[in-house]
Amino acid sequence: MNTHVNSDFTPDALVIGAGIAGLQSALDLADQGLQVLLVERQPSIGGHMIALSKVYPTLDCASCITTPKMSAAAHHPNITILTNTEVEGIETRDEVHHVRLLQKPTYVNFDKCIGCRLCEYACDTEYPDPFEEGLGSVKAIAVPFTNAIPQKAVLNAEVCGTCGSCARVCPTGAIEYDQQPRRLMIRTDAVIVASGFNLNALTVKPQYNAQRSRNIISPLMLERLLAPHGPYGRVLRPSDGKMPSSIAFVQCAGSRDESIGVSYCSRVCCMYAIKQAMLLSGALPLADITIYYMDIRAFGKGYEQFYQNAKAMGINFVRGKVARINPVEDGDLSLHVETTEDAENPLQERRHDLVVLAQGMIPGWQPSATTPVTCSANGFVAAPTLTAPTATTAPGIFVAGTAAGPKDIVDTIAEAGAAAMQASQYLYQKRSAILVG
Ligand SMILES: Cc1cc2nc3c(=O)[nH]c(=O)nc-3n(C[C@H](O)[C@H](O)[C@H](O)COP(=O)(O)OP(=O)(O)OC[C@H]3O[C@@H](n4cnc5c(N)ncnc54)[C@H](O)[C@@H]3O)c2cc1C
Repeated sequence: MNTHVNSDFTPDALVIGAGIAGLQSALDLADQGLQVLLVERQPSIGGHMIALSKVYPTLDCASCITTPKMSAAAHHPNITILTNTEVEGIETRDEVHHVRLLQKPTYVNFDKCIGCRLCEYACDTEYPDPFEEGLGSVKAIAVPFTNAIPQKAVLNAEVCGTCGSCARVCPTGAIEYDQQPRRLMIRTDAVIVASGFNLNALTVKPQYNAQRSRNIISPLMLERLLAPHGPYGRVLRPSDGKMPSSIAFVQCAGSRDESIGVSYCSRVCCMYAIKQAMLLSGALPLADITIYYMDIRAFGKGYEQFYQNAKAMGINFVRGKVARINPVEDGDLSLHVETTEDAENPLQERRHDLVVLAQGMIPGWQPSATTPVTCSANGFVAAPTLTAPTATTAPGIFVAGTAAGPKDIVDTIAEAGAAAMQASQYLYQKRSAILVG
């Protein structure tokens, strides 16, 4: 994997973000013979998808789809990958994009690191594992996760006590405590913004009291609990390790609500809640599983059948809105629900021992003021032309996946392919014009 870059490197295209959208765009461009620089701010490529358990509606293993693409990108002769590197902004002069990068120190020399993990075993300091959404712990110096690419150790300077044990055991002398951040300016003709999404905070609705109970969890935490190689190896409650017997999904807990500034629908929550409910009923066959929803948006191919299958499996769907969640004794939670399904008793109080809040999808990156793209009122990169959904307001800058708005993996991959095609067409036309001119 080529990870060496200086400011004199001028790739044909630069892709921001190595989630499934960025990986697909980079591969499609590189397969056409174009030189691509793929920039990822996390220590590994793969984005959100590499952390998912299974994917709807096929229930295929998510990492079995993502890992081959990660590996193909890492081994492609036309793709250079920079991890731990943040795109800070873009300035465009004379139709050339100058992309500002901040390469953060890993305190490990990647040329020397052989991924043996001896440093990880020798380290005594642990902190909540970001890959496991804080449910497990990880050493201060570690390879980020089992199938991470690159398989190189990264040191977290915020928690490291610089005791020196990693440097003492490293067989190749790769530990460099004095590494400094490095700024780079890369010139390129085309950029694909594939900077993805984040979820809004679990505490965005104070009436759900997420700050008062560890048993009110995010859907990404549940993805990790359901993953076969997840933090506990099975589904357990974070507060006490108990096997949950009554699980609630609260839909639209961070979307479709003007009071929190997210008036739009996040599009994937209905389907991933149904998927997670199905997987839970396999993992915990005796558990009661209830989804509280306003309406179910099962819009894609095979999605309605997926929803009907979940109902047939015995998952409870309760139409209504959860007004408040209160922690009660034993770590359980009391939900105040207003339902439209019981005209005589619309206000109900129901008890569960684990609650999953469907947080809203928000943009993964706020472009700097100099970046010439326009964003929509919701902050996602705007693609103003209906007939060219991956073109932004700036010539030569394209957008793919959830950077342009909430969407699922199928739509993300289709859009990533389209963005790569538009970028290569743009490059071809620009270079032909120069030759003719
Ligand atoms: C709980 C949950 C379950 C889901 N389950 C399913 C499912 O079963 N099926 C399905 O179809 N969809 C599912 N989805 C949706 C799916 O996760 C997304 O469609 C998909 O991951 C989007 O990929 P992406 O590449 O657009 O974004 P991301 O995966 O977010 O990738 C973007 C990448 O860009 C990087 N980045 C951002 N800004 C910068 C910057 N400035 N510089 C450098 N790098 C940057 C980020 O670190 C990240 O790695 C689920 C979503 C959630 C929340």
